[in-house]
Amino acid sequence: MNDNTQTFDELGLSDSLVQATKQSGYTHASPIQAQAIPIVLEGHDLLAAAQTGTGKTAGFTLPMLQLLAPGKPAGHNQARALVLTPTRELAAQVNESVRTYGKNLPLTSAVVFGGVKINPQMMRLRSGADILVATPGRLLDLYNQKAIRFDQLEILVLDEADRMLDMGFIHDIKKIITLLPKKRQNLLFSATFSDEIRTLAKGIVNHPKEISVTPRNAAAKTVRQWLAPADKAQKSALLIHLIQENSWYQVLVFTRTKHGANKLTKQLDKAGINAAAIHGNKSQGARTKALADFKSMKTQVLVATDIAARGLDIDQLPQVVNFDLPNVAEDYVHRIGRTGRAGATGTAVSLVSADEIDHLRSIERLIKKTIEREYIPGFEPSHELPESRLDSRPQNPRGPKKSPNPGNSGNRNHGRRDGQPGAKKPGAPQNRKTSSRNRRRKPREATNT
Ligand code: AMP
Repeated sequence: MNDNTQTFDELGLSDSLVQATKQSGYTHASPIQAQAIPIVLEGHDLLAAAQTGTGKTAGFTLPMLQLLAPGKPAGHNQARALVLTPTRELAAQVNESVRTYGKNLPLTSAVVFGGVKINPQMMRLRSGADILVATPGRLLDLYNQKAIRFDQLEILVLDEADRMLDMGFIHDIKKIITLLPKKRQNLLFSATFSDEIRTLAKGIVNHPKEISVTPRNAAAKTVRQWLAPADKAQKSALLIHLIQENSWYQVLVFTRTKHGANKLTKQLDKAGINAAAIHGNKSQGARTKALADFKSMKTQVLVATDIAARGLDIDQLPQVVNFDLPNVAEDYVHRIGRTGRAGATGTAVSLVSADEIDHLRSIERLIKKTIEREYIPGFEPSHELPESRLDSRPQNPRGPKKSPNPGNSGNRNHGRRDGQPGAKKPGAPQNRKTSSRNRRRKPREATNT
């Protein structure tokens, strides 16, 4: 289905854009790019199922720049292409891509998001922007202040539409659509296509071409996933041990809560590991700085909540840690999508305590495989993590997120349905030494696909 050996000039891109991809170090188009670029260049609407990490940003940015390049520049307070993203970080990153890929073209771009002063954004929009990247709430504020109009709008991109819905932007998006000219090209990207997304899409796209590069809910192929069973109270010490023992650098750690992120950051700092937290309570300045320091390796560990981490563009991140498993199984797939990006290999480890067994089972059902377990000597849990096994029980095929049958998800303390109370203790004879670091791994199906 995908031809991932195509080069950018074979896809119909102009010389200056091909040049820009070369300068970014890309030799070949990624599968989403190979599929999306010709469709967008032909002027079609597009529905694309693609996770972050697949190269989707270039997949819409490159052809969009090509389509806009020959046209009349944006007038005062006008935009010719609008890219809507769920988070400020993603908006900033998309704008960065627009600049990088479009640096040889006479196009202008701007980015607007909440959490910072609106006045400089109003000033910036006076001269118009060929490409405007925005989060929905701030865009509406700017519209209400008459800082932006859409008479010249040609292209609308909705990036990470599933996350926009999760974050409650549905009304803002619907409102924005009513402000746009009816005749326009629409591109909608989403990691998953739930019924809700399809309903939203119906009101936006027109006879779209549909493409998909990652099988729904399948984890990125180049990520090695494993988990370390641990008692909750031991998780910080275990994480410190793993970072120090393995000399991990550029570690992205996910926690479920902002409080958890702050607490863990302090514990890491205390252990002499340079760490920073990134979450919704941090100012935009602090978040941007934390990300920049992490990218430049000034900070060894970035501790993030799911929403803050969404769309973080960090190349070839080697190590992701789930300090807590996410409540929503699909977030696991998003989290580990932060590593093993664009062909690089990465490792994702989850520290899992016994009380998280239901979350673990939901995740394993979603990714359709059990995650390999390794017991770390000295950190074997006193509360054993029950065995998990993919069984043939009927499952909600859409995964646990919006189960019509509450009995299939979130039923804590009912582990007996698939639990194996006799889970093997670490150190049992079937365990074998697997690495020079003396970890013990339970024999299990290979998961490093
Ligand atoms: P995205 O899915 O858009 O967030 O992109 C993920 C990462 O892949 C970004 O850091 C890009 O710089 C990188 N990338 C995008 N396209 C390519 C490509 N064709 N070859 C190698 N890396 C790429």
